Amino acid sequence: MAQLQRIAIAPFQIQETLITLTKEQQHYLVRVLRLRTGDRFIAMDGQGKWWLAQLEAEQAQILETLTVETELSVAITLMVALPKGNGFDEIVRYCTELGVTSIAPVLSDRTLLNPSPQKLERWRRIAAEAAEQSERAFIPTILEPIAFSAAITASQGTHSYICEGRGDYPHLNKLVKCDTPEIIIATGPEGGWTEAEIDHAIASGFQLVSLGRRILRAVTAPVVALTLISTAFEV
Ligand code: SAM
Repeated sequence: MAQLQRIAIAPFQIQETLITLTKEQQHYLVRVLRLRTGDRFIAMDGQGKWWLAQLEAEQAQILETLTVETELSVAITLMVALPKGNGFDEIVRYCTELGVTSIAPVLSDRTLLNPSPQKLERWRRIAAEAAEQSERAFIPTILEPIAFSAAITASQGTHSYICEGRGDYPHLNKLVKCDTPEIIIATGPEGGWTEAEIDHAIASGFQLVSLGRRILRAVTAPVVALTLISTAFEV
């Protein structure tokens, strides 16, 4: 099954055992992937379900439901202060591959970027593509950007961490336990968090953590955090 191409479909496209393909999906399957009528591919709804499907012109026939076990047993919410330029695209792509559940882009005191509404669509597309590529059962949720203070006030995790490069804080890999059901982790922008942001996070139940002795780029830190968490749940 591994060699079959995967495409994400919306649940409303399925009626009983038929998938109605959009024009873009038909183009992708026929023109880009060069599939023909009768060829098989995998359809995934991004919400945990995979099906083996057979192409039939503008639709596809579902042949069987597939079992997919590529998800981590922990729900990880990544709160990321938006980095400059297109750095967030990379964060979405890599952290989706690493198993993140949802990503909350946040505007912190030192965030330089004010994203356009089109950016959210783009990030969601990147998450869907990365989930297809990495054989995820779920496509991570990319939330609307909000102020960091609002995001931490609203968050209600029991295992919430805020990454800080300077200071003597416990390493994340010492704190993550593989029986934790849910983790929230926040990483800052190029200029780092302000003292007020750190104080607010601590008052909201976040624990300061280190990702090692070197200062990581704003794009690297979330990827390292996800790598450490996923490793704890996969070994
Ligand atoms: N300008 C900041 C400074 O000089 O301290 C560096 C900010 S760093 C480029 C961006 C973010 O990555 C930080 O706010 C933090 O969340 C995270 N980060 C980078 N290195 C880290 C480390 N070694 N441990 C924990 N977090 C780190």
